Amino acid sequence: MRLDRDHARALDAADSLQAWRERFVLPHDGAGRELIYLCGHSLGAQPALAADYVEEIMRDWRRLGVDGFFEGRRRWLDYHERALPALAALVGAQPLEVTVMNTLTVNLHLLLASFYRPAGARTALLMERPAFPSDRYAAESQVRFHGLDPAHDLIEIEPRDGEQCLRTEDILAAIERDGPRIATILLPGVQYLTGQRLDVRSITAAGRRAGCTVGWDLAHAVGNVPLALHDDEVDFAVWCHYKYVNGGPGAAGGAFVHARHVARRDLPRLAGWWGHDKASRFRMGPDFEPIPGADGWQVSTPSLLALAPVVASLEHFAAVGLPALRAKSIALTRYMESLIDARLDGRVAVLTPRAPDERGAALSLRLECGRDAARAAFEGMLKRGIVPDWREPGVIRAAPAPFYNSYDDAWLFVDALDAELRAR
Ligand SMILES: *Cc1c(COP(=O)(O)O)cnc(C)c1O
Repeated sequence: MRLDRDHARALDAADSLQAWRERFVLPHDGAGRELIYLCGHSLGAQPALAADYVEEIMRDWRRLGVDGFFEGRRRWLDYHERALPALAALVGAQPLEVTVMNTLTVNLHLLLASFYRPAGARTALLMERPAFPSDRYAAESQVRFHGLDPAHDLIEIEPRDGEQCLRTEDILAAIERDGPRIATILLPGVQYLTGQRLDVRSITAAGRRAGCTVGWDLAHAVGNVPLALHDDEVDFAVWCHYKYVNGGPGAAGGAFVHARHVARRDLPRLAGWWGHDKASRFRMGPDFEPIPGADGWQVSTPSLLALAPVVASLEHFAAVGLPALRAKSIALTRYMESLIDARLDGRVAVLTPRAPDERGAALSLRLECGRDAARAAFEGMLKRGIVPDWREPGVIRAAPAPFYNSYDDAWLFVDALDAELRAR
């Protein structure tokens, strides 16, 4: 393993995806200097095409007024549908199993309304701890919404003492043990704090064997790691598009409902007119006739301006394909990890699993110098124009995103961290 910067540049020169960086507008500092942006796990960089798509909607609004719903190159009435084939490919679904709507936590509530149906002895919701706070708030409030007590009906599985990541065997054991009282399982495809990728297939299979419905929060997984939601027989899933999918702040979110559920009449749902059968929606009748697909869970008129960048970005994903992105991602993250091991050994603990199959792009690092010195090192990185992020209680996360990050970015990140740690 060569540690010099020339080697990073040689790897970039050999990277077949390198040209894609040009299609993104990366953040700049006040002096106009491009930042080394490693926050794609939090807010992906802007595809230049996104601004064109947003401007097109503004133009059509000026030009057409309300007729923009029915006219124009990309009419608004079914605007999101042009994203569905690419999105379905990204999550391993049939197009009718996915939709783009609302934002993540709202979608989580909407799908839990359908898929968390406590009944008889089966009342509990199983999740992980520490989950992303919004997921925990959503889950806890859903339990209460059904008149149940989270102390009894919210089951949280944790990493073992002294460990950071969940073990699949522990999750399977919890399902085995508590299965008869679990109504619904809700877990992350990729854990937000550690970057651990969970085994969707085996956990979903175990949950379904135990009679539970199984849902996934894919916020950190979509556009990052391969997914096969249909074949893995996942019941439902939700995600946002502003992390690895580069759809912009507050981008319209995503949802998946397995084909075996989309036409079920016995599933309750919180309905709205945008989920109504398209052919008769504008007859304005009183009776709800759902679209037989994930689209049937739509509630409101879509936020077109939050949708346009997602549609633009998914065109890039369709053009490159996730397999090529994932191949680069594995190599790039492994390169960054090797530099960390070689140059920062003992001063930084990598919390993310070491096996490429068990993680996505991001590495979560604990700096072994105490919280305040770690925070100062993080601030120092920002001053140097290197942008990872910080999560309490003292974790630096850095994600080299394969669409727009380079080997040189990874090298500069590790070099700056080395310098900052030496200065403490
Ligand atoms: C990013 C993220 C969220 C954010 O939810 P919003 O509703 O989009 O604000 C929720 N859950 C997880 C697991 C996340 O990673």
